[in-house]
Amino acid sequence: MITGKNYLGNQLSATGSKTYKTFNPQLNIENEYTFFEATSNEINEAVEIAAKAFKSFRHTSGAQKAKFLNAIADEILALDDKLISVYCAESGLPEGRAKGERGRTIFQLRSFAELVADGSWVEATIDTAIPDRQPMPKSDIRKINIPLGPVVVFGASNFPLAYSTAGGDTAAALASGCPVIVKSHPMHAGTGELVASAIIKAAEKTNMPNGVFSNLNSSGIEVGVQLVKHPEVKAVGFTGSIRGGRALLDLAAQRVEPIPVFAEMGSINPVVMLPNALKNRNEALAKTYASSITLGTGQFCTNPGLIIGLKSDDLTNFISTLAEEIVKIEPSCMLHPNIFGAYESNKAKALAQPELKVVANYGNDIQENYARQAITTVEGKTFLANTTLHQEVFGPFSMVVQCDNIDQMEAIISNLEGQLTGTLIADDEADKYSNIISALQNRVGRVIFNGVPTGVEVCPSMVHGGPYPASTDSRFTAVGINSIKRWVRPFSYQDWPNNLLPDELKNENPLEIIRTVNGNLSNENI
Ligand code: NAP
Repeated sequence: MITGKNYLGNQLSATGSKTYKTFNPQLNIENEYTFFEATSNEINEAVEIAAKAFKSFRHTSGAQKAKFLNAIADEILALDDKLISVYCAESGLPEGRAKGERGRTIFQLRSFAELVADGSWVEATIDTAIPDRQPMPKSDIRKINIPLGPVVVFGASNFPLAYSTAGGDTAAALASGCPVIVKSHPMHAGTGELVASAIIKAAEKTNMPNGVFSNLNSSGIEVGVQLVKHPEVKAVGFTGSIRGGRALLDLAAQRVEPIPVFAEMGSINPVVMLPNALKNRNEALAKTYASSITLGTGQFCTNPGLIIGLKSDDLTNFISTLAEEIVKIEPSCMLHPNIFGAYESNKAKALAQPELKVVANYGNDIQENYARQAITTVEGKTFLANTTLHQEVFGPFSMVVQCDNIDQMEAIISNLEGQLTGTLIADDEADKYSNIISALQNRVGRVIFNGVPTGVEVCPSMVHGGPYPASTDSRFTAVGINSIKRWVRPFSYQDWPNNLLPDELKNENPLEIIRTVNGNLSNENI
């Protein structure tokens, strides 16, 4: 049942007077439930019980945390059709997408459960003592990753399940031993509350401390600001706009104790189309990219917003076919009137730039909140000179840059802001473009060969992040089990008695985890 209240640990609370509703963009009407924004006292209480919970949760075994994470997955599944219908009503996304995203959320939770049940993720590293080393004896030093403390998670508007309440950031933080306070996304507060109820049920069933999870409603920046400033909060996870992520990063840096903010923000995901590929696969590439640009109404952080090629008849043909194909696709609904409004104004700003040519802009009548897909094209020198053209237009929009030569192409890539992905489309020619590949590698977190950037696999080798502003710390991924590393810090024990060490570092290796012992990987005892 949706109550509209905040979860302060396992207590429902609604002491404030500021209320709001979510919006159904397909029907263009407000949804029925009323949500109560968290008050300053409620925010403080959520953080204080999280700090208290951390004292025991940080020592909870991997096996117990795995039970908790699997129980969250079970409870989310038990929400069944109710969750799917609220998700669709609050996002305008179709049922198939809702179910797919729920599957991804469950997979992420179970992957982290498996990771912590195994236990080797803590990267236990042991360098045993050398008492007779000359000129000085060497101490016994043992290192392990330990959790940071209470983490605040800002859910993503474009992934109400997989990157929100029980999404990747929350699953990774709980797996690491950090309590989580979610700042619920106002566009899908009902979906958020249902998932929060599943997390609370799972926490109670698996005897987790009260305060290990809280969910706070808010429809403005105040709740998030107070949370990030709270001295007991030790890290922040965020997915959204560059403006929002940057504001939180600056706020965290101004604290007496600055804390890390792991924000995954905007990206235009450059796609480099090389000449042979354009010659051999012109029409197929145009069709593939028309689909990729419009997938999910273009509301993916990996949407291909920039296509770069060398001026030629093949590139001209590609642009015309892409323009013809993209307007054949039925427009679809955006997540919310605000996101739709932002798309319209960002697109209008891009289209108003001098020397930019609009080659497609869907013109037929469409429903309210539905996006008109658009393709533009521009000369390489114009793109280089005008950084407004480098900005993300979040939605079904892409720009084709026509370069005079390879040097200009390399300069364009090198002058882009940091990106999540870069794509190379090539037919037996990639070896001649090593400078282009190198320039791409320098600007992005993941390169794709002959594919599309949309679709982010959840697996240990995935990097979803990149140089700023794709993310605030390019050393970490926001997707896959390695994202757990954002919520921990390395910690060393020197000459510590064996019986006082955590199990992961004890001589007898009771958990049988893989450790690095004197430089060698091993699951043996010492
Ligand atoms: P957003 O505006 O960045 O907001 C995300 C969350 O951060 C919301 O909960 C918001 O709270 C909070 N927030 C924003 N600015 C803040 C600040 N200065 N201080 C404290 N909290 C702050 O993103 P959005 O609502 O998801 O979507 C808006 C735009 O972001 C989209 O149109 C799109 O351009 C971009 N976006 C990009 C991606 C991507 O992957 N590239 C993904 C999603 C969105 P309130 O809403 O309560 O104010």
